[in-house]
Amino acid sequence: MATSIQLDGVEKVYGGLRVIHGIDLQIDPGDFTVFVGPSGCGKSTLLRMIAGLEDISGGELRIDGQRMNEVPASKRGIAMVFQSYALYPHMSVYKNLAFGLETAGMKKPEIERRVQEAADVLQIGPLLQRKPKALSGGQRQRVAIGRAIVREPKIFLFDEPLSNLDAELRVQMRVELTRLHQQLGNTMIYVTHDQVEAMTMADKIVVLKEGRVMQAGRPLDLYNHPANRFVAGFIGSPK
Ligand code: ADP
Ligand code: MG
Repeated sequence: MATSIQLDGVEKVYGGLRVIHGIDLQIDPGDFTVFVGPSGCGKSTLLRMIAGLEDISGGELRIDGQRMNEVPASKRGIAMVFQSYALYPHMSVYKNLAFGLETAGMKKPEIERRVQEAADVLQIGPLLQRKPKALSGGQRQRVAIGRAIVREPKIFLFDEPLSNLDAELRVQMRVELTRLHQQLGNTMIYVTHDQVEAMTMADKIVVLKEGRVMQAGRPLDLYNHPANRFVAGFIGSPK
């Protein structure tokens, strides 16, 4: 029961300056899609428009065929994972996971079930009573992902969630995120400027440059048949 996302001519204009130019994109149900491109190419802006955190200046966004342009963020069935520093420092891990659900008025047994389930998936059960400052970088990142999981969203969006971690941990978290995707089966979009991350994690890569899609496809297809020099250079294709 995974969810599809369609973008038709999606644009973003900031104060008269167009930063996203007519993007057409089909994201298939259950795919792990990676938006990759250099800093400033529009990855975060695109993700935030899909999430509903940013107005869409032109074109149409659809989720499972339904127009979403005017639907508020809270009604899109999307959870966005931010970097680990977005945890509440004065709350326990349990509370960090439960807080949003409590605020939404959810009953305690349901909250406990969801927190336990997320803790199992992420293997952070023994950490639930700790405060964020008593966690390692990787553990904090898991809690940040846990806050998305407890909401049971249809779609997960990740904006460079590993960029603050050291190289070794980043490699480990890539593997864990891939496992998480296989386990949950949700549609996920992952943003990075790191081509290795894109190549190793993606079902489908979308290469962006200056607010335009340069190429979209499976990692090996892009590697073997890059559409242009930019794509070839960016993903390290030999051609
Ligand atoms: P990326 O995430 O790929 O690094 P962004 O989506 O953050 O790129 O930014 C894309 C472009 O939009 C950049 O030129 C950036 O300066 C511009 N931009 C992003 N947010 C704003 C904003 N709130 N106001 C004006 N310009 C913005
Ligand atoms: Mg960004």
